[in-house]
Amino acid sequence: MTRFPKKHNPFKRERLIGLGLDMASTHGHYINGKWVQASTRKTFPSINPATEKAIGRFALGNENDVEKAVRAAENAFHAWSHTPAPKRAEVLYAAARIMEEKKEWLARRMTEEMGKVLREARGDVQEAIDITYYMAGEGRRMFSYTAPSELKNKTGYAMRRPIGIVGIITPWNFPLAIPAWKIMPALVGGNTIVFKPSSDTPRCAGDLVNVLSEAGLPSGVLNLVTGPANTAGQRIVQHPRIRALSFTGSKETGEWITRNAGVKRVGLELGGKNGILVMDDADLELAVEGILWGAFGTTGQRCTAASRVLVHEGIEKELTEMLIKKVEKLKLGNGLKEETDVGPLINKRALEKVHEYAEIGKKEGKLLCGGNKVEGKGSFFEPTVFTRVKPHARIAQEEIFGPVLCILHVKDLGQGIQVMNGIDYGLSSSIYTSNLYNAMKAIEEIEAGITYVNSSTIGAEIHYPFGGIKGTGNGTREAGWTGIEEFTEIKTVYIDYSGKLQKAQGIK
Ligand code: NAP
Repeated sequence: MTRFPKKHNPFKRERLIGLGLDMASTHGHYINGKWVQASTRKTFPSINPATEKAIGRFALGNENDVEKAVRAAENAFHAWSHTPAPKRAEVLYAAARIMEEKKEWLARRMTEEMGKVLREARGDVQEAIDITYYMAGEGRRMFSYTAPSELKNKTGYAMRRPIGIVGIITPWNFPLAIPAWKIMPALVGGNTIVFKPSSDTPRCAGDLVNVLSEAGLPSGVLNLVTGPANTAGQRIVQHPRIRALSFTGSKETGEWITRNAGVKRVGLELGGKNGILVMDDADLELAVEGILWGAFGTTGQRCTAASRVLVHEGIEKELTEMLIKKVEKLKLGNGLKEETDVGPLINKRALEKVHEYAEIGKKEGKLLCGGNKVEGKGSFFEPTVFTRVKPHARIAQEEIFGPVLCILHVKDLGQGIQVMNGIDYGLSSSIYTSNLYNAMKAIEEIEAGITYVNSSTIGAEIHYPFGGIKGTGNGTREAGWTGIEEFTEIKTVYIDYSGKLQKAQGIK
């Protein structure tokens, strides 16, 4: 999609041929409504993690490109923020319809770029469509509130206003859905945007930008800068004229942002170490299905992935045997093949990291299956399960972000909740039980932004708030009607029609 008409293509044909790429595979930044070359004139590749082939080259952005994008966003702000919100929403409705038409095409390109199996890629695109329709609806809601004044002939209300230029920095694991969760509320809220996607998924980002451009988004409202974290990314974080930053990624990056963003509104959605508590009164078939989906869906690369199972000691043996039988049947392979259950990890770095954790796990627990890299092309790691893991073991505490699950046993509900809470993160959680008391206690006591009952830790729906507590974030809730809060600020209005000076708090 991010194709240049021949005469505008800023890349030299000879150079591209030298890299084994054609014009259509080379992509620029999108600034002020045009695809443009990076200031550095350099590009970087995006690699298919299943085949290790480059799917294209992308502009290697730096501080200068961010500056150009900020200027474009600044120039576009007045007109966009003064466009009535229901009119802004029309662009979103059109974008959602375009994504519906192109769903299969977008999904296949996503699987090629980041590896998730095709049926999950379709889900990712669907999530982007759903949030786009939902946020388009905000164009005619954007609720705030009014309340009676304490004085006669006086009224007041709070209204939502755009913030200004918003920086959006996203990871690779939901390459359409996460950008859409942020971009759509930011747009309908009247902001203009500088968007830096993960360097592992720049093509998906370009696809989303093209959808919005085709939907009629005016030039300069959404600007895409691709390229490294330490130049383009850090400049967005630190830029004084970017008034708000919405970030999803690792806890380490979130901590850096907290120290460096200066005075701007910052929304952080960070990592997780999510647990499933299985009680001795649970439907075990159901629990096993949920554990499989939570631990190995998206190759364990979801912020809400289940990486710990806390099982009641009375059913540990039975549950573990049932689980391992199913894990051993999971098919690892290229996500484009319909029969594949588990795709590759995002890149070789991730493969090495997961391998290191598996080696640590072999010392901290008992390996029940998997534990190895798969030889040959692609970043494949076997679905891996450890048991007899202690709550404070590293593999039970740290986010591995791969197909690695550890089983811990607990003696009762109280200990289960205690172990569930004994981590730095607080994103998702789940309990399998047939006992209402157990379910309600878990809902009350578990320290997490999300608790599922008799369902896995993954599967958020876009019309409910999404976010975590503790090390997972700083309180932002994306999606649902709370999703608009991150991208609007509140102005309070007082209207006194008494014709005299009235003083609040009873002052005479
Ligand atoms: P990451 O390394 O933190 O990178 C995320 C994004 O931030 C990328 O675009 C990256 O750019 C950029 N970046 C990194 N350091 C930066 C800096 N100092 N300043 C500005 N930008 C910077 O995370 P990831 O590996 O892509 O994503 C996986 C993590 O995301 C996991 O921890 C996962 O749990 C978390 N996640 C959380 C949620 C949630 O909603 N809570 C959802 C999905 C994922 P480059 O790609 O160029 O390095």
